[in-house]
Amino acid sequence: MSAVGFGEQLFVLATITHVRDYHPTVSPLPTTEHEKHLRLLDDIALLLVTQGSSDVAAVMFEQTTQEIIFYYAKNRATTQQERAYIELLRSIALSLSDINDCTIKLLARVIPMCRAKIISRLKKLIRCLLIAPVVGEDIDGTFNEHLQLRLPLLLSRGLSPTNFVRNYISAVRAVNAAQCTNQDLEKLIRFASIIGSYKPLKNLLSDDTTIRRLRKLGNYYTATKRIARTVESFQRTNPTYLSSLNIVFREVLPPARYTSTYAEDYIAALNRYGRSRGLDAVTASALHAAYPRNPEPKGPTCPLTGVQRVTHSVHAECTLAMHALSLRREWKFVELGVSKGSCWLCEKFLHIAFAAHDVKFLVSGFHGKLQPGWTCPPLATARERAAIETLVADALAEIVERTLNRRRSDSFPLVEVDGPVQSAVEEVFAEDDMAWLGGV
Ligand SMILES: [Zn+2]
Repeated sequence: MSAVGFGEQLFVLATITHVRDYHPTVSPLPTTEHEKHLRLLDDIALLLVTQGSSDVAAVMFEQTTQEIIFYYAKNRATTQQERAYIELLRSIALSLSDINDCTIKLLARVIPMCRAKIISRLKKLIRCLLIAPVVGEDIDGTFNEHLQLRLPLLLSRGLSPTNFVRNYISAVRAVNAAQCTNQDLEKLIRFASIIGSYKPLKNLLSDDTTIRRLRKLGNYYTATKRIARTVESFQRTNPTYLSSLNIVFREVLPPARYTSTYAEDYIAALNRYGRSRGLDAVTASALHAAYPRNPEPKGPTCPLTGVQRVTHSVHAECTLAMHALSLRREWKFVELGVSKGSCWLCEKFLHIAFAAHDVKFLVSGFHGKLQPGWTCPPLATARERAAIETLVADALAEIVERTLNRRRSDSFPLVEVDGPVQSAVEEVFAEDDMAWLGGV
């Protein structure tokens, strides 16, 4: 009987339960200053995601009297092209003379670089809008006020708030995402941000998933605008300080990724692991009854005989966390911006690693999902590594026990973290925006 190592245990666990059955929560941020920092860091992290899937980024910063260092990490080393892009965004932001102008310039660089991810978000939004978009018939005065602040020119041309939203939905539905020009993407993103920044959006679009996907598309505009506004605010309040500061971006490299293959027959691996803990074997049908989200068992006539390849990597937030702790600064808090919520094991690892120091970490959200390639950072201590291994091992044993007890266990609502909401700033619109929206 061969032992089931950590990598295979995690592969089995992630195959059976894609999401852990608990509500991941984050502590409230101690101050609005932390909130501002974290939103900015999340925005920068989003702009560093250049691939359609499995690409994530994390960002933190350190400020002294002479410099601000933005440390960033991904699950892989960045390419030369990505580093040049980051440098370009930095120089555009720091040469700001006007918020709107800077936002548009940043967005013009972001869209082609992040195109794969943007198209993926757009496709998800299109799918939602093709199914069942419900636009409230009676848009109350508050949405009108919301648009008056942002699009006075558009409204002055006679486009009603209702028709603005309807025309936007029609435009999104008509788009062929893969062939969408970067100019059209810019408009889709900008208008998504404007509609999405309306807080009671529930009154306009009845479906939560649609609202979330609209805001996710709009986040690219929200992010570039927030960066421009942050620089402008710095320039306005402390121009001498800003011009004397050295502002740099520094990559923290993760270890190289590697791949492993695991036998597809995860139930056999689960039972091998169960036997090592003195537990009875489970059948595929009992496991499926206890975990209905789990893939259908193939049964004895159709055994799983193949292998699955898993890419292992140290997740970006863990790489940055270890870097932050290795700096040994006297920080009370470490703010970690991430391009998406952190997974279950990152959440656990961050808690374990920071608990060993007198430092708290701040992130904007966790999603509780399991990823089979999660790997402990190389700088983790033996105690931290053992704590994670115990978590995974206990979770597997719990699955066997629950299955033997025939208890249902993996149905619960997910906690989603909505994108940031920007405050009112009038937008700059060109004549072709009017034509693009139609009916004006
Ligand atoms: Zn993670």
